[in-house]
Amino acid sequence: MTGLDWECDRGFLDQVRAFAAGELAEQAAAGPLDAARNAQLLRRAADLGLTGIEVPRSAGGLGLGFREKAKACEILAGVDFGFALSLVNTHNVAARLAVTAPPELAARLLPDLLAGRHHACTALTEPHAGSDFFAISTMAQRTADGWCLHGEKAWIANGAVAGLSIVYAQTGTVGERDGIAAFLVRLDDPAVSRTACSVDAFVPAPTGGFTLDAYRVPEGEMLLPPGGAFRAILNEINGARAYVAAMCCGMLAAALESAHGFGRERRSFGQPLQAHQHWRLRVAEGEVALAAARALTAAAVEAVAEEAASAQLLAAQAKIAATQALGRWMPELLHALGAAGLSGQTPMKAHLAAAQVVGLVDGSTEMLLERVAALTGRRKTELFREG
Ligand SMILES: Cc1cc2nc3c(=O)[nH]c(=O)nc-3n(C[C@H](O)[C@H](O)[C@H](O)COP(=O)(O)OP(=O)(O)OC[C@H]3O[C@@H](n4cnc5c(N)ncnc54)[C@H](O)[C@@H]3O)c2cc1C
Repeated sequence: MTGLDWECDRGFLDQVRAFAAGELAEQAAAGPLDAARNAQLLRRAADLGLTGIEVPRSAGGLGLGFREKAKACEILAGVDFGFALSLVNTHNVAARLAVTAPPELAARLLPDLLAGRHHACTALTEPHAGSDFFAISTMAQRTADGWCLHGEKAWIANGAVAGLSIVYAQTGTVGERDGIAAFLVRLDDPAVSRTACSVDAFVPAPTGGFTLDAYRVPEGEMLLPPGGAFRAILNEINGARAYVAAMCCGMLAAALESAHGFGRERRSFGQPLQAHQHWRLRVAEGEVALAAARALTAAAVEAVAEEAASAQLLAAQAKIAATQALGRWMPELLHALGAAGLSGQTPMKAHLAAAQVVGLVDGSTEMLLERVAALTGRRKTELFREG
């Protein structure tokens, strides 16, 4: 750990880097991934174990930890943010099933997920409830043999294609924090219909939504009970914020690398661009912003990996800092490449759009700032004790 990075399994990282620089870069260069190319890459990533990084070996995964997951997110996002987001969402469902599902259910579902035979997603957001998670109105009613779900989910990474989803629904009355539970939903069931979400430069495929019309959840497929679901998602979201921060660092680092390469080769007024002071100082400022974002991200990744009480604050701070660094510097670095930046030969255009998306996923910047305000507003002695 250098302060700007964290220790990871070297052999694993070499494999992720080779995949990112090879097949993923090749596909990303051919334009935004459609569902078919995403599915093909998912299977290749699964061959390397990337669908089961945190899944225990006994359940068929790699048995590695959060540090490796966050680093894989950083490396893959540097090449294709949309694919990294899609992959980590499938991974997270596999990891959740491995620890929470009854063993017989996990044994039935994990092989397909780990082999990348289908995508999976985690669905909290609804058309009328995003930041205000407790306002979700997908309802779960008790039946004689399980639960019955009604409602609609929107803006879900992998929602357009996933075979399985972990769906958060209200078992009590809308707004009741401890009434929220999490259920396993098979998205190929006739009680489920997909709702399209127009995928374009700003919406990485395969994002989408679905409606549940009397979807029957058998006993044993409620993954997190009322009360427990809310607490589990708060813990999980600290990890998500830290790895999204790592993704931002990956994208910014890739943009800086492109800028440096361009600045060495491209000449204007008889000199390489990087010999022009105004040009190189802009790039240098981007490097400073990246180093600052990396330092906070490394601290957040360590805190999450160690389950430290500081994880909540550091993950929120890291995601804010990294998102803002990306949003501030991606347009500048794209500009530093002149018209060549718009040519599609680098992932910079896609990452410019991603800079908008990262300000929303796993907590918008405003919600995170509220968290920071609440946590730092406490007396210091309380801060790291309560988390
Ligand atoms: C590509 C993509 C993938 C996604 N994947 C998933 C997924 O896999 N699963 C999932 O459940 N969700 C997912 N989301 C949804 C994401 O979590 C939401 O977009 C996010 O929670 C914000 O909710 P919203 O878009 O409804 O915005 P809103 O909650 O409507 O907020 C609109 C704006 O107002 C601001 N705002 C809201 N309330 C306040 C307040 N009290 N004070 C100040 N400002 C406020 C917000 O910060 C935002 O800028 C995804 C979104 C995108 C774009």
